[in-house]
Amino acid sequence: SYNVDLLTKKEALEFVVSSIETQKNVHVLTINPEIIQNAICDKELDTLIRNADLTIADGIGIEIALKLQGKKAKRIPGIEFADNLLEIASKNGLSVALIGAKSFIVEKAIDNLKKKFASLNIAYYHDGYFKNEEEDAIIDNLSKTDPKIVLVAMGGKKQEMFISKLKNKLKGCVFVGVGGSFDVWSGYVKRAPIFFQKVGLEWLYRVLSEPSRFKRIFPALPIFLFKVIIYSIKNEKSEKHD
Ligand code: UDP
Repeated sequence: SYNVDLLTKKEALEFVVSSIETQKNVHVLTINPEIIQNAICDKELDTLIRNADLTIADGIGIEIALKLQGKKAKRIPGIEFADNLLEIASKNGLSVALIGAKSFIVEKAIDNLKKKFASLNIAYYHDGYFKNEEEDAIIDNLSKTDPKIVLVAMGGKKQEMFISKLKNKLKGCVFVGVGGSFDVWSGYVKRAPIFFQKVGLEWLYRVLSEPSRFKRIFPALPIFLFKVIIYSIKNEKSEKHD
């Protein structure tokens, strides 16, 4: 099992801002049932999750799981967290780097973000489809711009791996793996309607609008919840015994 930091969005934002101020690096990982399922047979991913400095519950699966264990939890959608972070960046003059998605997508996303946050300072950006042999140069160039906030949108394990490499190079920087957020900010992909967001069914909306996701998401959620239920029953029993 993994630790999830039970912070509100406000507390999580305060934590990363104070880390930047005190020159500490923070790898923020948004955790969901899919990534947990994948980590079972992927030691590298497992280590990445364990080494994250702040783990926030993105998605209803984790919220339900935590509630089943009697913990008060409220999910923090990664895209909202990142959006709030950019607002803080713009207000406080913290420079930002964006890596991920196709190049026309990340460029369009930056256009839109600059309209939304007038004084946003984008120090560096790159698409997320580079070759392995380009990686060192990208990490080097990015580090030279010394950003305070780095958003990486390359999906799943890939983005977290890239962050773990960057983390060794930078100081006082917050790194967030933001999945499909650039697609949404670019306007090319719509976020689920508010109704789906409110009731925690964003994943369902995504599956419906992109059926190829079904295979990835669908088995993960029920299997994950089943395990959590078994785990909480076991826990209850052992608590009664001692
Ligand atoms: N992406 C990327 N490089 C890759 C694979 C994916 O930059 O090698 C981008 C993709 O364009 C999208 C984002 O990663 O903008 C998230 O992809 P997806 O939604 O498949 O990831 P998830 O977070 O759902 O695993």
